[in-house]
Amino acid sequence: MRIHLSDISSSEGKCIQQSVPFEMDRISFQAGTYPVLAKKPVELCITNTGDRILELTGHGQITVSIPCDRCLEEVSVDIPFQIQRKLDMKLTEEERINDLDESSYLTGMDLDVDQLVYLEVLMGWPLKVLCREDCKGICSQCGKNLNDGPCGCVDEPKDPRMAAISDIFSKFKEV
Ligand SMILES: [Zn+2]
Ligand SMILES: [Zn+2]
Repeated sequence: MRIHLSDISSSEGKCIQQSVPFEMDRISFQAGTYPVLAKKPVELCITNTGDRILELTGHGQITVSIPCDRCLEEVSVDIPFQIQRKLDMKLTEEERINDLDESSYLTGMDLDVDQLVYLEVLMGWPLKVLCREDCKGICSQCGKNLNDGPCGCVDEPKDPRMAAISDIFSKFKEV
């Protein structure tokens, strides 16, 4: 949703508080496209602190479907976010271009709240997603999800101690 800022940016000391719906149904970036399963409205507060400076604060949360890093099952992940930005409304459009972030959510007097939230969500994006702490992943040979039980492939996981011993043997062979 877009909020027009001309009223507030011309009245010093003014503050508006608004519950703004987040309107994106998916989050896309280099890593892929992820459907948004649930969202809480963005509780946004905009304050004119004087000298045509606007302070934006807010918070919210969305829930995104992300595949588990090991077994690729879809996991619903909550991504809470905080907004804390300062907008200098004295800047011209050209000056704003230097701030790539800002120029993506502020066009003239229009604040694009979806775009603002999008940036915050990317910053809060989890580095690792697991369906559960001890996810067993998928078999590298047959592709079966090992959380559903063993697949019967013969290649058993290597014992690290055995691996060390076979290293020693191969060293002897080289000599
Ligand atoms: Zn998993
Ligand atoms: Zn297998």
